[in-house]
Amino acid sequence: MICEMCGKEVPVTKPVFIEGTKLEVCPNCSKFGDERRGSPTRGSAPAPSAQVIEQRLQRREQRMQVKDVYRGSESVELIDDYGGEIRKARIAKGMDLEEFAASILEKKGTLAKIESNDLVPDDKMLKKLEKALDIKLTESVSTGGRIGGGQNTKMTLSDFIKKK
Ligand SMILES: [Zn+2]
Repeated sequence: MICEMCGKEVPVTKPVFIEGTKLEVCPNCSKFGDERRGSPTRGSAPAPSAQVIEQRLQRREQRMQVKDVYRGSESVELIDDYGGEIRKARIAKGMDLEEFAASILEKKGTLAKIESNDLVPDDKMLKKLEKALDIKLTESVSTGGRIGGGQNTKMTLSDFIKKK
């Protein structure tokens, strides 16, 4: 069973009502709810769907990821679909490949390969493309932190939630 409040896997969950919604929660979370409320009439308080649970779990996942970012060293990496982003931005600016290539003094063939994600642009090219198209082709990625040893860990919201 999975607690619909905190997303924890627990042997047993308890149905409680929180803001009119029935949730199956772990004993720890059940104190937040009101279990005395009678059985809901159909439609007024629908049981959360699998989708709702999924969303909650995803949110929890995101919190964990935020924490990892703080812990780990960040590096800047090319986004997965850099080619698609370049093509989209180029088309949005009303340029065909040839015009675009000419405008940034690059070969059309090179740009075609980049747009189909077949060629990874080097830093210089990246900056040029980002500037010419007014887009961002990189993202900050956590590379995972080392545990212990002079770590300057910030207190994050997720830390706070976990300790509660
Ligand atoms: Zn819980």
